Amino acid sequence: MRAMLFEAPGSPLRAAEVPVPEPGPGRLLVEVEACGLCRTDLHLLDGEVDVPEPPRILGHQIIGRVIGGEAPEGLEQGGLVGVPWLGWTCGECAYCRSGRENLCPRARFTGRDIDGGMAEYAAADARYCFPLPARFEALQAAPLMCAGLIGYRALRLCGEAYRLGLYGFGAAAHILAQVAAAEGRRVFAFTRAGDAAAQDFALELGAIWAGDSAQTPPEELDGAIIFAPAGELVPQALRVLAPGGTVVCGGIHMSDIPAFPYELLWHERTVRSVANLTRGDARELLALAARIPVRTSVHEYPLERANEALGDLRAGAFTGAGVIVP
Ligand SMILES: [Zn+2]
Ligand SMILES: [Zn+2]
Repeated sequence: MRAMLFEAPGSPLRAAEVPVPEPGPGRLLVEVEACGLCRTDLHLLDGEVDVPEPPRILGHQIIGRVIGGEAPEGLEQGGLVGVPWLGWTCGECAYCRSGRENLCPRARFTGRDIDGGMAEYAAADARYCFPLPARFEALQAAPLMCAGLIGYRALRLCGEAYRLGLYGFGAAAHILAQVAAAEGRRVFAFTRAGDAAAQDFALELGAIWAGDSAQTPPEELDGAIIFAPAGELVPQALRVLAPGGTVVCGGIHMSDIPAFPYELLWHERTVRSVANLTRGDARELLALAARIPVRTSVHEYPLERANEALGDLRAGAFTGAGVIVP
């Protein structure tokens, strides 16, 4: 099969012919129809997040058709499934046994520890695959599998936050703005300075205000989610946060957070991160996204142009989500 291989940090992905994976017991073989890009892929490429055993096929927002392996109840041969970042957990540790499998220290992740979706086929543990609601097509659904899921988990960590700020209006925020607006929240979108395209896009998707990330919004925020990997956004978000509010850092890596006066944190403001996802998050978000319904805006690239797609993601060259189609 054709695949794009990660070989070492700092090197572009390499187009290669590799064997179609053998699914093995309890695993599905899927024919990849779409695979979303994620900022985490850039952190892997840059060596900011380690890939333990290269070469590795990246890509952890897979939508594929089940063509082999053992499909358990609810997953049909020939049906479309989503394969997310969480690829395997131990099921035995304190985190796994307390509904926090996202924190399992032995967890294995798709497109980092397990070959991912930048290929024609992928094999995945059937217990971590999710049937796609009939409403969705593969291309549109791919960004739900990480951008949507991490965004959804981050939103839940903001609690009831009525006035919600989203910093970095890319794949995750463009999904989350729709979810938050559907829940009756007021969404404030913050983008790179002068990014009028992203600001217009945010307003189209239900944000009531859009501006540069250094700007002060017209209202204090009850919650803020930071998707851009820029540590300086943490004190910026705290500065416009109401007492009791929460800032959630939504990425797997961020530049250093600059020192800030304690006064910004005072009055029970919270700063926290969000890590990975649980299977419960996936089931909840897919059902919710189908009900709303969430409409994703995707920018499609053929598999062979994955490096160009990742470059465009880095440069902010498209609005919405980048998706690879093998
Ligand atoms: Zn991701
Ligand atoms: Zn565990």
